Amino acid sequence: MAKVNISFWRTVIERLPTRTNLASRGITVPSMLCPICQELPETESHLFTGCPTASLLWSIVGQWCFKQCRPFFDVKDLLLDVPDRSSTKSKEFFVDVVIRATVWTLWKNRNQLVFQERRNSMQTLIVEVKSLSFLWVKARARHWDVGWDEWCRFNFVM
Ligand SMILES: [Zn+2]
Repeated sequence: MAKVNISFWRTVIERLPTRTNLASRGITVPSMLCPICQELPETESHLFTGCPTASLLWSIVGQWCFKQCRPFFDVKDLLLDVPDRSSTKSKEFFVDVVIRATVWTLWKNRNQLVFQERRNSMQTLIVEVKSLSFLWVKARARHWDVGWDEWCRFNFVM
C-alpha cells in the first residue's frame, strides 16, 4: 500500500461523525447500529471495511484496478500501515485517488441513507468511484492522455 497516505486516511476516518464516535463524545444518537446493515455498531472500521456493502465495493474496486498493483487488495490495509515494496510514485498516486474516491463514496452513501433515506445500488456506487477518481486524476494530471473508456478498463501503463 502506498506509504504516504495511510496514516492520513486513518486520521480522517477516525474523526468522521459515525454513531459510535458521536456517542463517545456524549452526543445522543438514535442507534449505535450501522445504518446500512443494521447488524453491528457503526464504527469507522465497520463502515469502511467490515460492512457487507463496503466489503463488496472494495472487492469490486480491487478487481477493477488493484489487480495491477498487487495480487489482492485487502481492505484492512486502509487501517493499518502495510509497507508495499513495489510501490512507485505513479502507483501511489492512482491508489491514493481510488482509495479517496471509494472512502468518499462509502461516506456519501451512508449519509444519503441516514439523511435522505436513499439507498443506492452497488452499481451506482461503482460508477461513482470510477467517475470521481477519473475526475480527480484528470484534475491533478491534465496532460495525462487517458480517456474514460481506458479508465474504466484500468488498462494503461503506470
Ligand atoms: Zn454495516
